Amino acid sequence: MFLKGKCALITGSTSGIGLAYARALAAEGATLVINGFGEAGAIAAQVAELTAASGAPAIHVDADLTRREGVEALMAAAADAFGGVDILISNAGMQHVAPVEEFPVEKWDAIIALNLTAAFDAARLAVPHMKSRGWGRIIATASAHSLTASPFKAAYVAAKHGLAGLTKTLALELATSGITANCISPGYVWTTLVENQIPDTMAARGMTREQVLNDVLLVRQPTRQFVQPEQVAAMALFLCGNDAAQITGANISMDGGWTAE
Ligand code: NAD
Repeated sequence: MFLKGKCALITGSTSGIGLAYARALAAEGATLVINGFGEAGAIAAQVAELTAASGAPAIHVDADLTRREGVEALMAAAADAFGGVDILISNAGMQHVAPVEEFPVEKWDAIIALNLTAAFDAARLAVPHMKSRGWGRIIATASAHSLTASPFKAAYVAAKHGLAGLTKTLALELATSGITANCISPGYVWTTLVENQIPDTMAARGMTREQVLNDVLLVRQPTRQFVQPEQVAAMALFLCGNDAAQITGANISMDGGWTAE
């Protein structure tokens, strides 16, 4: 349990990749602050599961991170409960699929706010505590779309490219403070985020569900397999360890070969 005594805050951790991160870090003893939407009973069960796994009291903070005040409330709640955040994983994200001339401007604003600006605000508020401890880990879930583009995803691709840039900047600024900053860039991971974009992709491209799965999603990944949330979580756990102390400013691809093409 090498993360005992460390507070890990994971945004968007009530499902998908974020929940897998929480489970992996709890298994190593981290004190968890989780965040995200969902049914109250399901979230209470996740909090209980994480507390039992880590032996430290997990909390859930119900904050909407498309709003700056939401990020500030989340970080304040973590500081109140546990003194500050040692491991920050900025993971909350959303997608919208539409041609650029039809792209709803409110969707653009929300995606930039959640997928990019929230990561800046969370880092801004977490770093003073990390500096005071001389240790910290900042990890972001970027995407293959931080390195390459796809049509009909203007906001998501722009935000993820920005997140990769933010990560590199944090790494340079914090290099001598014992704090590393890295992002993990998965290809397609089978979560609700992917499942929910299938209907819009069917509409935008005039395709069936099967065509979207095989000819839009898996066609990008030479392995022709989805990445598993647990595989992404295992990478984050590695980045938290001492063996990763010299990995900083990296954008780690886990995309079945997508961005090698
Ligand atoms: P998901 O939909 O399963 O999880 C998203 C999480 O974010 C949930 O906990 C949700 O409640 C939370 N969330 C959504 N809006 C929020 C808001 N306004 N404020 C706070 N929390 C909010 O999706 P996922 O696939 O696990 O995605 C997690 C991250 O991984 C995202 O940043 C996504 O862009 C990235 N990613 C996903 C894939 C993929 O194929 N699934 C690939 C690359 C990157």
